[in-house]
Amino acid sequence: MNKLFIVANLKSNQNEIEAKNWLEEFKKIKDLGQFLDEKEVIICPSFTLLSLFSRFFKENNLPIKVGAQNVSPFSEGAYTGEVNAKQVKEFADYVLIGHSERRSNFKESDDMLLNKVKTSLEQALIPIYCVQDKDILVPEGVSILAYEPTFAIGSGNPDTPENADDVARFIKTKGNYQVLYGGSVTPKNVKSFTDKENLSGVLVGGATLDPNEFIKIIQNA
Ligand code: PEP
Repeated sequence: MNKLFIVANLKSNQNEIEAKNWLEEFKKIKDLGQFLDEKEVIICPSFTLLSLFSRFFKENNLPIKVGAQNVSPFSEGAYTGEVNAKQVKEFADYVLIGHSERRSNFKESDDMLLNKVKTSLEQALIPIYCVQDKDILVPEGVSILAYEPTFAIGSGNPDTPENADDVARFIKTKGNYQVLYGGSVTPKNVKSFTDKENLSGVLVGGATLDPNEFIKIIQNA
């Protein structure tokens, strides 16, 4: 049976001290035992914190994976300010690509996203490709998609589990995908999404900033 994906997008939050406090609090997930057996929990902090999160999970023997929130569309070289897939892969197994905040704030085009997927796959970094509706182009090689309608991101107004399930069903007619839902997921509503036949997990933003809320999401999923 496939594991349920529970992905935390911490967005542009936390400095080192704040991240250490978050991790110390989150560490009690260990006492909650079996919850983690059937779940692939992936935490996506900022680039500057990837090494800290990755080291912390190893040292504390926690079965939690690390993901990046972004990656360069280029391989290594003269691309000032970019963090490439080889660099990310040192600390992370996954990477978010195509998030609506990047598409709108940074004008990331389909071509650029395609290159981000390509360079990630070359480094065995697994893309979690965000789509905002059912008709968005998906680059070849992607196997995990996150359906995140923009109206639901950070709004407290999630899509209905029924509609999310319908969108996921449609997307799955186009390829062998696992589809996650993202947008205003909370400890209260998470199960209504993860119970749906065509959804393989959730991508969570705001509710992960409090580690205790995120633990509840993992428990309730
Ligand atoms: C996100 O940004 O990926 C997200 C799902 O945010 P939120 O949970 O805050 O809606």
